[in-house]
Amino acid sequence: MAPTTQLPRPIIVSGPSGSGKSTLLKRLFEAYPDRFGFSVSHTTRSPRLGEEDGIAYNFVTKEAFRKLVDEHSFIEHARFGSNLYGTSVGAVKSVAEKGRTCILDIEMEGVKQVKKTDLNARFLFLQPPSVEILEKRLRGRGTDKEEDIQARLAQAGKEIDFSHIPGVHDQIIINDDLEKAWQEFKAFCVPDER
Ligand code: ADP
Ligand code: 5GP
Repeated sequence: MAPTTQLPRPIIVSGPSGSGKSTLLKRLFEAYPDRFGFSVSHTTRSPRLGEEDGIAYNFVTKEAFRKLVDEHSFIEHARFGSNLYGTSVGAVKSVAEKGRTCILDIEMEGVKQVKKTDLNARFLFLQPPSVEILEKRLRGRGTDKEEDIQARLAQAGKEIDFSHIPGVHDQIIINDDLEKAWQEFKAFCVPDER
């Protein structure tokens, strides 16, 4: 792999679960199919309806995940709720090898770890208009059990508090109106089109 300084800078998208990361990323990949590549994380969570192994995530057992940790396969990894998530060196490398901008969708502990690496990433935080609206969207998505929704809402407060620390993120986008958020998201990811 070429030195990271010669590669397009990776983009780290974070924000509470339900803030709209997947929705906006789907649009981005559809609008720019050859420009970006998704860093496919490993997770121990079960696939949701429609999530394909190797596309949305690499779905693995806790044992397999721990083995990868022991083998130093991850750039960063963290627990979210009762599940483990991690970005492998291989996931980022396979995007970089195509010359594409690598996009990571990760939570805040991962953000802290990425900041300590030489990835030279840009950090974008997606914020819901309010916790009440976030709760409605999480419920509306219909993918999570009640206890998971409660855990995700509890975590949302921590993510939002962390995002307020000056300098953590290069940009914060409030995802109220989807079209407005998309325009801001696109402008951050494709700055040369501004
Ligand atoms: P994340 O990937 O951050 O967990 P999603 O992209 O799955 O969040 O979005 C959570 C839910 O909120 C989805 O059902 C999505 O369709 C909906 N949603 C996202 N953005 C908006 C918006 N601006 N207005 C209304 N609903 C939205
Ligand atoms: P979900 O279960 O909704 O797909 O993801 C839950 C949370 O885990 C989200 O905040 C998402 O950004 C985060 N996440 C997904 N993959 C990774 C990863 O590889 N590392 C870290 N640290 N967080 C991740």
